[in-house]
Amino acid sequence: KQEGPGTARCLEPGMDQALAAQRKLTQDLRLAVADGAFDLAFQPLHTLADARLVGFEALLRWPHPERGLIPPADFIPLAEETGLIVPLGAWVLRRACREAASWPGKVRVAVNLSPAQFHDGAALVQTVRDALAAANLPAQRLELEVTEGLLVRDPGAALAILEELRKLGCSIVMDDFGTGYSSLAYLWRFPFDKLKIDRSFVAGMSGEPKAAAIVATIVALGHSLGLAVTAEGIETVGQVGALNATGCELGQGYLLGRPMPAEAARELSERVSAPAAE
Ligand code: C2E
Ligand code: MG
Ligand code: MG
Ligand code: MG
Repeated sequence: KQEGPGTARCLEPGMDQALAAQRKLTQDLRLAVADGAFDLAFQPLHTLADARLVGFEALLRWPHPERGLIPPADFIPLAEETGLIVPLGAWVLRRACREAASWPGKVRVAVNLSPAQFHDGAALVQTVRDALAAANLPAQRLELEVTEGLLVRDPGAALAILEELRKLGCSIVMDDFGTGYSSLAYLWRFPFDKLKIDRSFVAGMSGEPKAAAIVATIVALGHSLGLAVTAEGIETVGQVGALNATGCELGQGYLLGRPMPAEAARELSERVSAPAAE
């Protein structure tokens, strides 16, 4: 530390331990991917004006034999570095589509895609096509969520793949909007159907007028481009009111529903009578 930031000393015992732990976790991840030893949680997506259920977002969970449930933030970066995200992402798509096929009517499922899955675009498109076919799920019921990071490295390649996916009939969602590096130019050049406002802005809405102004502006921007807008991370009734006032039509958050096991999602979707999706 005395040598300042950026000077890594690999010979320190603490470093060795961290490396060993990382190696062990990579091994465990590889085994878990081979076994499909993961779980999906499903978080409800609602209309904000009348609280209709329109779908669920599939969220990956790793029940680790020794460490308990590991949240995605703790292993997705590792899965991306190691390339394991490709088979893992395919597992998520298959499982999410199969689950959604058991839901009534038009209830949709949203699946997160990481930029690493776009390295082989043809394979990704085939994986999506196969997952839909195996589950017999209409593509119109699958939403694919991507983040701004995807658009930074090779926007041309990303654009071509997103257009292919859209041709299948899936819709494309720009996730965590406002937190990445993408320029507004990408927004009109890319075939998005929906914007998801990052929850940091929603969290700031009640106490911070500037956050509220940003949310209102993102909603107006999305609508003027013909996109539907979802707010994520809604935790209070006040936020619902404030979002309704902006015209934001869709919402997701602990107030409306926590991520839940597949069976609970199925029961919930059956209980609410065949809702019409957006
Ligand atoms: P995300 O796609 O933005 O998903 C929303 C995250 O916000 C989820 O965290 C969800 O549990 C959390 N959340 C929802 N409502 C609230 C709320 O009201 N308050 C708070 N504080 N949090 C809320 P989770 O499940 O831990 O996932 C984190 C991220 O991991 C996701 O962010 C997504 O980027 C990534 N991820 C999850 N599943 C997958 C997957 O299958 N593939 C890929 N590539 N990434 C995934
Ligand atoms: Mg998402
Ligand atoms: Mg999000
Ligand atoms: Mg987020």
